Amino acid sequence: MNDQQRLKLKRLIRARIALLEEVLGDIGTITSRKHPEEVESAHLDISDSSVESEIVGNTERELTRLKLNLQWLDSEEGGACERCGGEISYARLETAPDTWLCAACTEPKGE
Ligand SMILES: [Zn+2]
Repeated sequence: MNDQQRLKLKRLIRARIALLEEVLGDIGTITSRKHPEEVESAHLDISDSSVESEIVGNTERELTRLKLNLQWLDSEEGGACERCGGEISYARLETAPDTWLCAACTEPKGE
């Protein structure tokens, strides 16, 4: 991966993060980010509700991974597979910017 591709990926990840945060806002779970405690209580409130909380959970997990990958891309290990250390192709990261594994290390999900 060259620097230009790295920059492009980071832009892509930031855009995805913004989108997901907007989705979370739309669902109305995290309406206020003023205090961490409020966000925390919002989490507790939604844990009881059905489908919404699942969507929120998935979205939040993806958000966390995306934010970690943003830092990861800046580090020396950025772009290297978590499991085998091999380089993850730019094309793969572009399609799945929240992945930490190369194609070979990812278990097929019946695609
Ligand atoms: Zn690998």
